[in-house]
Amino acid sequence: MDNLPRVGLLGGGQLGRMLIEESNRLNIPISVLDADQAPAKQIHAHPKALHVNGSFAESEAVRKLASNCDILTVEIEHVDTTILEEAANAGVRVEPSWKTIRTIQDKYVQKQYLESHFIKTAAASQVDFIADLEAAGVELGYPMMLKARKQAYDGKGNYVVESRDDVHNAFEALGKVKGGMYAEKWADFKTELAVMVLKTKDGVFAYPTVELISQDSVCKLVYAPVRGVSTKVKEAAQKLAKEAVAPFEGKGVFGVELFLLQDDSLLVNEIAPRPHNTGHYTIEACPNSQFAGHLRAILDLPIPPDSLKQTRPAIMLNILGGKHPDSHQPLLLKALAIPNATIHMYGKGASKPGRKIGHVTVTASTMREAESAMAPLLAEFDTLRA
Ligand code: ATP
Ligand code: MG
Ligand code: MG
Repeated sequence: MDNLPRVGLLGGGQLGRMLIEESNRLNIPISVLDADQAPAKQIHAHPKALHVNGSFAESEAVRKLASNCDILTVEIEHVDTTILEEAANAGVRVEPSWKTIRTIQDKYVQKQYLESHFIKTAAASQVDFIADLEAAGVELGYPMMLKARKQAYDGKGNYVVESRDDVHNAFEALGKVKGGMYAEKWADFKTELAVMVLKTKDGVFAYPTVELISQDSVCKLVYAPVRGVSTKVKEAAQKLAKEAVAPFEGKGVFGVELFLLQDDSLLVNEIAPRPHNTGHYTIEACPNSQFAGHLRAILDLPIPPDSLKQTRPAIMLNILGGKHPDSHQPLLLKALAIPNATIHMYGKGASKPGRKIGHVTVTASTMREAESAMAPLLAEFDTLRA
């Protein structure tokens, strides 16, 4: 496949690294923009991969990457979209579109865009002044969530406003963030769901509906498929996720986070225009993973729809850094001793407390078996986090 368009990737963290694992198998070069020795670069020495050292937030570095590429894609949404727009005007394909990335990177604009396409999300209102937050409390009730519009990840940028008495502290805590804030109505969910959606030249396709369990606002576990939920709800979640992604321009994989409320109705929490932590299970559990899907989608290569179906139940556990650089070793050793566990360490260098440094996926013929295999790892996870 020597005549494929040249692909450039903004960001070379773990998502980029897993995308490269896929492109390596197909011998497709991807030029990565990130710091020297970033996780994705460590495993990609293809002679035609023209890596750029620098940051996806630096305009000159993005320009340099674009100058050697026919297609640009991202592993992170917090990128400089003005340069992507400039590259698109100069004839470089940006997948998904820079417009999509720009809309999504401001979570409040993203919500308004979804609402304008009749996709339900939790009610929200813009907060510029403390009086706006007070008014939001009256309108949305307590508790409510105060959120930063931009640069948010792993719950950094979220503040739970428990009552009227919390308004001052919440505003102080987030009031200095760049890019503004909004208040969001509390979603009394019984389960958090996620669906990976693939947008290709042929249409919009959904991977299965999975269950997301967070701890301290960081994704901890993913059960695929979701447990204890009817087929009707699973299908409704896939349908909603496809409807939410469909209005966005461009190709590639999207992660859709959803709230399943007490009455079985669904809200979209947020969308990521890229591979997503809740889709890692697809590497072991689906013939074409989210990374394979993304690569094929942006290059217009064939993707049999059946290859997105799950073949085995799976559970994914994130490996987070602990107090010491080697705190996660006991968890790793336990995982190595499980027959159907696949371990992914990201090569991130120094492990910091709470940082995502790897993950383990366990597959089995039934969810119950996967749960028993995962049990000792969960016990280690809790020791590590204590
Ligand atoms: P990510 O790392 O997924 O990008 P983020 O920093 O953008 O996270 P959100 O997804 O907005 O943050 O929120 C993080 C978590 O906080 C959610 O997964 C959910 O558990 C909880 N949460 C967010 N919004 C609400 C809400 N309106 N009501 C209740 N819980 C919420
Ligand atoms: Mg987010
Ligand atoms: Mg989220």
